[in-house]
Amino acid sequence: MLGFFISTLDPVRILEGYPIGANGDRAFCSACRRELRAGHVATVTAYRFVETNQWDVSEVRCSICAPTHIEDPTPGAVEVLASGALKMGQPFGGESGRLHLTNIDIIGFEDAE
Ligand SMILES: [Zn+2]
Repeated sequence: MLGFFISTLDPVRILEGYPIGANGDRAFCSACRRELRAGHVATVTAYRFVETNQWDVSEVRCSICAPTHIEDPTPGAVEVLASGALKMGQPFGGESGRLHLTNIDIIGFEDAE
């Protein structure tokens, strides 16, 4: 657990720059399909396979459907469950006008098996 927090691949920093949703100013809950926009709270599941440095977001949930723990850990991957407020911006100064998370709280963490 400690190694996770001192990692240079700190998931909070990764997620702060990670574009959420494919449609610019909106995303959709993976469970109920509710529309999520800037100002909404979203809970995401992010994972990284141990042999890579690449984090990916596998699920976005609204506040109603948000899981409280990682339900089905992926073998061979480090997984993080995190919530935050959606905000429009330019993640990593790259793509313009994308939603991303701010004020991120890590809710759950699964180390690779
Ligand atoms: Zn939902």
